[in-house]
Order: sequence, then C-alpha cells, then structure tokens
Amino acid sequence: MLFNKKMPKKANCDDKMMDDCLFCKIIDGQIPSTKVYESQDILVFKDITPKAEVHLLVIPKKHIIGLNDLLPEDQQLMGKMMLLLPQLAKEQNLDDGFRTIINTGKGGGQEVFHLHIHLLGGSKPLPFA
Ligand code: AMP
Ligand code: ZN
Repeated sequence: MLFNKKMPKKANCDDKMMDDCLFCKIIDGQIPSTKVYESQDILVFKDITPKAEVHLLVIPKKHIIGLNDLLPEDQQLMGKMMLLLPQLAKEQNLDDGFRTIINTGKGGGQEVFHLHIHLLGGSKPLPFA
C-alpha cells in the first residue's frame, strides 16, 4: 500500500511515536530482551529491573500507548492478553497466585508509553511495580 500523508492516523497507533518507543524497538529486535512467549500479536519478556522473583511484561505488538488509548477493535487483543496471564503464571510455577499491574499515565506510574501488563510473583513479598 502506498503511503498516503493525508491518511488519518488511528488515535492509539501513532507512527512517529512508534519510532521512539522502547517496547516497539524490543518487538522489532532493535533492543534485546529475554523473551518468554511470542505470538502473532503479543510478546512477553522479562522486566530488566525485576521487582519480584518473577517479573514479566506482557505487551501487544501493536503500539497502544495505554488503557486510555484503547479502541473497540482492541477488545479481542486485550482478551487474549488476559487469558494468557494464568497460562504464563502456571508456566512460571506461580501456583500460589500472582499479581498483575497496569500503570496508566504519568499519574499512574507509567514510564514506558506502550501498554504493558506487569505479571509478578514468587516467594518474596510482592511490590507495586
Ligand atoms: P511502567 O512503570 O509500568 O511503565 O513499567 C515499565 C517497566 O519497563 C519497568 O518495570 C522497567 O523496569 C521495564 N523496562 C524498562 N526498560 C526495559 C527493557 N529494556 N527491557 C525490559 N524491561 C524494561
Ligand atoms: Zn510502542
């Protein structure tokens, strides 16, 4: 498809932002990560500064800034991410339970503006990520 400058960009899928996005670079392989799971539309990798024994980040491959930027069309993708969480927890032997956190916006503690779900668990006391 030819690039059309007049083509409106989707609110949650800004090309300029993607160039500048740490997690898009991880998806693209420009920045290394320790991958735990990958599908066509989801990537899971280890957090570089783990705040718990197990600390994974579950991200959509589509650049979505955060929860405030979700579109109705993202419903299935978000559902897939939710269903993946207990599967990952099981694979990580988090039989006792786990914590999930989504930070939204600066006020919510979000530092990387590409939607991600923190999956935390293990024997040590769990923090808020
Ligand atoms: P948040 O504060 O919710 O935006 O979380 C961002 C998370 O990304 C933090 O827990 C960071 O430790 C993590 N992080 C930052 N850079 C990397 C990286 N290169 N690889 C893996 N995790 C990262
Ligand atoms: Zn991104």
